[in-house]
Amino acid sequence: MARYTGAVCKQCRREGKKLFLKGDRCYTNKCGLDRRSYAPGQHGQGRKKNSEYGIQLRAKQTARRYYGIPEKQFHKYFEMAEKKVGVTGENLLQLCESRLDNVVYTASWGKSRAQARQLVNHGHFTVNGTVCNIPSRLLKAGDVVAIKSTSVDKAEFKAMLEEDASRPIPQWLAVEGTTAKVERLPEREEITVPVEEHLIVEFYSK
Ligand code: SF4
Repeated sequence: MARYTGAVCKQCRREGKKLFLKGDRCYTNKCGLDRRSYAPGQHGQGRKKNSEYGIQLRAKQTARRYYGIPEKQFHKYFEMAEKKVGVTGENLLQLCESRLDNVVYTASWGKSRAQARQLVNHGHFTVNGTVCNIPSRLLKAGDVVAIKSTSVDKAEFKAMLEEDASRPIPQWLAVEGTTAKVERLPEREEITVPVEEHLIVEFYSK
């Protein structure tokens, strides 16, 4: 499935949860979900049917939209998570968290994951000293992400680095100036996606 290009806030309204897809706006009273807290579309305010399948589908879509991952790739992560040792749902969320675009966002180098993804696409970051413009690159413990030296002086980065980090940096990521080291993969309690991951596992296990 191609990347979603419609109105961003509709995704939060569809899931009925704040997914923080628009950066600063999400924290103001302009938030689309705060203003219209019902699903988009002609029948958005109608009665909701909460079938078992529907609940599982919404959990999967919530996680996918939160991280901005296309369906095909998300399903691939699920297959990878199944093969790993441990709890499949937690493995899946760990994989999503270890994406380069998510690490850049978590390091407070982007107001949203979409912006972080764009910055990566534009080649502003290195991974272990080599430029990487692949947002979906999966990082592992010990990997070091850095803002490219020629990008540090660009206005967009200067402003970001001067701003106080508005989001707390989790302990699995060590951020120092223009570098961020993945100390380890995050524990479940450090992952903030508003979803019960076992529902995603049930969705794909049908
Ligand atoms: Fe979601 Fe942010 Fe839009 Fe609110 S402003 S609906 S949190 S994307």
